[in-house]
Formats: sequence, structure tokens, C-alpha cells
Amino acid sequence: MTRLYRDFDLRNTTIEQVLICDNYALYLLRYNEIMIEVEKALEIIQENTNFIGKKKRVMANEALRHVLSEDVFSKVDMPPFRQSAMDGYAVNVKANDYRVIGEVKAGDEATIEIKEGEAVRIFTGAAVPDTANAVVIQERVTRKGNVISLEDVPKLESNIRPKGEQIRKGEIALESGMKLNAAAIGYLNMLGVVEVSLVTKPVVKIITTGNELIKPGTELTSGKIYESNSAMLQSALNEIGEFDVELLKVEDDYSRTREMIEKALNNSDMLLVSGGISVGDYDFVGKALRDLGVKELFYKVNQKPGKPLFYGKKDEVSVFALPGNPASALTCFYVYVHKALQGQLGNNFKELKRVKLKSASHFLKRGTRAQFLKASVVGDSVMILEGQSSAMLKTYALANALVYVPSDLDKIEVDQEVEVILLPL
Ligand code: AMP
Ligand code: MG
Repeated sequence: MTRLYRDFDLRNTTIEQVLICDNYALYLLRYNEIMIEVEKALEIIQENTNFIGKKKRVMANEALRHVLSEDVFSKVDMPPFRQSAMDGYAVNVKANDYRVIGEVKAGDEATIEIKEGEAVRIFTGAAVPDTANAVVIQERVTRKGNVISLEDVPKLESNIRPKGEQIRKGEIALESGMKLNAAAIGYLNMLGVVEVSLVTKPVVKIITTGNELIKPGTELTSGKIYESNSAMLQSALNEIGEFDVELLKVEDDYSRTREMIEKALNNSDMLLVSGGISVGDYDFVGKALRDLGVKELFYKVNQKPGKPLFYGKKDEVSVFALPGNPASALTCFYVYVHKALQGQLGNNFKELKRVKLKSASHFLKRGTRAQFLKASVVGDSVMILEGQSSAMLKTYALANALVYVPSDLDKIEVDQEVEVILLPL
């Protein structure tokens, strides 16, 4: 039956469908209270989220700190030719004296032929002629006119880097899963690799809605408040890992909201909308999402805070419309968005750590909604804090945990064991 409640869309519900419901369902339908339980909501997120560790071809030069999603193969032998490691003379080894017949500098072709007893002037990085079999460093050479004299007979192939010494064409240069550092970027360039496949950072767009919102740092005018959800949600993302975040803002206007959401859905892995999802006359997010064909997976959760919490999908983009009240938005992020992101990152839907601790506080729950209460873990007990209002962040800023009170629990006694969600530090 629970499933049926969720699947009902009031706008398309037929009388036949209503008739197969029990009285409770009728009550829910009448009051437009199609709510699902917290656990069900988490299940739905898991069922509908896919690992987005997708491969993205990007320019190697923009891949610093990213993780390779495919092995990289060398495009060349490195070095591509026998290469002089020093400034000096390339010789065709014979005895101690050689006649200098030419010069090869870095970048030159080395077609010059050297016979036994002959040498060419050569410089670091230059191609060594095939017919030379050693390079003698200039410090060990005495030159008189066109003749050089060496202190010793050189060792064969000394000071010559063999072709392909570092890596051969077609060999694996860097393996999938490796995080690229500056040297790796240099190495890719060295091997002629201009594009690589990366595990992409999820692209998350955050839209804040509300005519009343003003950017902190500017003067607060009458009726306005400072906008705080975008920075808070971005910081909550940073607590998890690396994301490609874009912050967007829109007024309480249907067309603008719709346009902004439509734009934000492009090239995104996740869209977070803050505010405008409730039932006020100026809440346009729900309608805009529906009109844009975002598939609703749930819209209301039997919880406090965050009863209006929309979760849906537009193709592969996960969409959360979070309540605008700051504390509600953050709790919904920690409980739901966090899980979805871990799924997208391929981290097995890891949720924030939950522990059982003794409560140091007494708490009486009003109503039948599950509750997430700002709390402070001290030692092996947890204290429920004063000031649970959804509009306040004062308490939240001091909290290090949330106490989860399931919908079927109506009070917490001192010393009762409770479920505690540990917040990121
Ligand atoms: P709403 O969900 O849009 O009805 O907003 C609920 C409450 O949260 C209102 O008091 C808003 O002013 C406030 N609110 C909404 N968005 C933000 C935001 N981005 N920053 C701070 N407060 C907000
Ligand atoms: Mg609003």
C-alpha cells in the first residue's frame, strides 16, 4: 500500500484508483499528504542512483589531480632516437685521437656518417648519428684545430640514451586509477598524449530561489536577508570530496525558475534547488520541475525538518529540491543528498556514520513525523541541543551530530539508547 501512495499522482488519479485505497489512503489523498517514510526515501534514492564515474576525455593539460579511468599508452619511443646525454663529441671509437667532421645540435637530423677515428661535435639532447658509438664529454677532450685528443678510450655507448630507454611506443605509460600530479602531466606531454580519460568529478548545480535573498557583503535592505544556503551546501559538498560546482540564483518567478532549472539540467550530474518547493503562492519549483519533465520519485517525507523534499530524475540527472529553511536544507543534504552523491561516486551509497549512544536529554516528540535533532556528542553520550528551529543555524553550527528519532518513537528518556548520525568535522 505504501508503494501505491507513492505512485499516486493526485493530478492523474482516477476515481477507480481512489476506490481501491483504504481509509488512510483516502485521508492522505484528501489532504494531499502523500508522504513516505525516511527509510523508504533512502531506499528510493539507492534504487535510482547510478555510479557516474563515467569516462570523460579531457585535455591532458587540464587533468591535474584527476583520476585516470583508462590506461594511457605511449605514442612514441622515448627517447625517439639515440640521444646524447651530454655536450661533447660523438665518436666512432678507435683510439685516442679523432678528426672532427661536423656538428649535430639538438633538433638536427643526424644523417652524418662517421668512420672509425672520426667524431662530430654534439650537444645534450641531440640525435647521435648511427655510426657513432660513444659520446665523450667535452671536459675530457683537448681540441687542437680539427683534431680532438681523449684521455681514455671511451666505453661503448657511454653518454648515449638508448632509443626507447624510458618507454617504448605502445607500452602502458600510466595506469587507470592513478591520480595525476604535475610530473604525470609532464610525462603525458613527453609521450605525445594530448587527451586522457578521467573519472569525472560529478557536476553539481545549486540554484537558490527567493526574492528576499541578498548576497552577504552587500547592504541589507528592508525585507531582505542574507543568502546562506549556497555557501553552506557548497561547503557540505566540499566535506565529501571534489565536485564541479556551479552556483545559480533565481527570483520567485515561474518562467525564470523554469528557465534556470532547464539550463541547469544540462551537463549536470546533480541539481540541488533550495527553497520554493513548498505550497506558498510564490513557490514555483515544484511546478517548474514537473513541467520540465523531471520524474518525481518522492515529494514529501514523513520527517521534521524537511517535509517538503523533492527527489526526482531527469534522465540521468538527480534532482533534489530542498526546503529553503537553512537547517532543513542542510539536514536533507546530510541524510539524502549525501547518500545519492556517494552512489554517484561509486562509494557504495555510504551514509554518514551512525552510532548508538545514550541520550543525556529527555525529549518529547509531538506528532508522528520522524525527527532529526541537532545534538552534541560528548564522550559516549549525546545531548539534544536547545534551538531546533529550521530557520536557525546557531545551534547547527555548534552541533556535531543529529539524533534520529524514528516516526514510531514518541519520546526519548534520559539514558535511553538513541541512533546518532555523526556530522562531518
Ligand atoms: P522557502 O522554502 O523558499 O519557502 O523558504 C523558507 C525559508 O527559508 C524562508 O524564510 C526563506 O527566506 C529562507 N531561505 C530560503 N532560501 C534561503 C537561502 N538560500 N538562504 C537563506 N535563507 C533562505
Ligand atoms: Mg522562497
